Amino acid sequence: MELNLQELNATEFPVPVELEDNIAITSLSQLYNWGRRNSMWPMLFGLACCAIEMIATASSRFDFSRFGFEVMRATPRQADLMIVSGTVTKKMVVPIVRLYNQMPEPKYVLAMGACASGGGPFKEGYNVVSGMDKYLPVDVYVPGCPPTPQALLYGMIALQRKIDGQSIANGDDVPWYGVGPAEPTPVPVLGPDIIDPRQMDMIRRQAESAADAPLLGSRELPALTQMVAAKVETAAPVAEAAPADVDALNVVLPAGAAPWAEAEDIREKRRLRALARKALRASRRAAQAEGE
Ligand code: SF4
Repeated sequence: MELNLQELNATEFPVPVELEDNIAITSLSQLYNWGRRNSMWPMLFGLACCAIEMIATASSRFDFSRFGFEVMRATPRQADLMIVSGTVTKKMVVPIVRLYNQMPEPKYVLAMGACASGGGPFKEGYNVVSGMDKYLPVDVYVPGCPPTPQALLYGMIALQRKIDGQSIANGDDVPWYGVGPAEPTPVPVLGPDIIDPRQMDMIRRQAESAADAPLLGSRELPALTQMVAAKVETAAPVAEAAPADVDALNVVLPAGAAPWAEAEDIREKRRLRALARKALRASRRAAQAEGE
């Protein structure tokens, strides 16, 4: 790669033209970032179809080595860029986070494609994570399904620009410029569903409140229907009245006790009639059982 010292000359102090190729006046942060952004080593792993485009970007026609990304490393210990290229399944997110934790700092994550950025065509599928950023701090998103090699290159250059803007003087800028190593990202747990240990408190609270809540799944008759059923039972034996349809309930019930007669809304009327029909059937069955 050709050394261009002009990239580094970003101070108010002018450098004489004849020395521009030999001298650079710069800050420590800029020198550090310049060295790092031109020697990023991506980790060698792919998840799905996007990985084919990533391989194409690494090979001779596009060749991301031209931008300093050089060789892909087959171990996280030697890589500082994780390109998440493909669909992230709940099963795979566990080793991905573990690999990320094994990368030395400073380290970056690039989400390549719709799947890694937000779940893509499989979003909300039972086995797919809706975006890598739910688990790792993603620095650059490259949209597309799949993104072209040019798009990936553009994303990588965007990452270089982001690195240029970071400062080793600012510990809050990125975690690894602070004191000591950054906290490792909690590795998700693969159970019946994926569990993020950072959400453990919330999951526990939800489980406790679900355990205290009334049982779901048992259908109760609404109070009005129970009232109708009670009146049917007490007014007269249904077997004697033998109403041909639900309107016969008007005969069975005392005057004014047919709630559907007063309902103005047609849907409400239908609902009440359906509930009364259900109550009538129940009372018939009870009468039959008594007769047997
Ligand atoms: S974004 Fe499209 S091309 Fe990339 S992994 Fe998902 S489905 Fe495949």
